[in-house]
Amino acid sequence: MEDCIFCKIINNELPSTKVYEDDDVLAFRDINPVAKTHVLVIPKKHISSLNELNDSELAGKLLLVVPKIAQKLGVGNDYRTVINTGAGVGQTVFHIHIHILGGQELSWP
Ligand code: 5GP
Ligand code: ZN
Repeated sequence: MEDCIFCKIINNELPSTKVYEDDDVLAFRDINPVAKTHVLVIPKKHISSLNELNDSELAGKLLLVVPKIAQKLGVGNDYRTVINTGAGVGQTVFHIHIHILGGQELSWP
């Protein structure tokens, strides 16, 4: 996807602060963090949102890598994961991503 900023990050056409990478998944720090620790976990394959995710193996990989990344970031016992789906709830980048938020107390809802 030539116009996708996250695909550009995957292809190193845009800089990012990577915290985890394997064959299928990349995680990097959010450019505009809303918590002390704020990382985005994305598949290397372009999938625009959760509504288009139909690869259960990749879905499992994306989810199961989250605790490993949280441990690496030092927030392994206390973190929040968020997937925004659709512009109506604030999805701004249409390449599916899991937010990992932590490093501080977070209010809810
Ligand atoms: P969404 O609102 O779609 O759930 O989340 C998109 C996230 O991507 C936002 O938190 C935003 O700060 C982050 N973001 C947007 N552009 C870039 C970028 O070029 N680099 C990085 N590291 N994060 C970005
Ligand atoms: Zn993309």
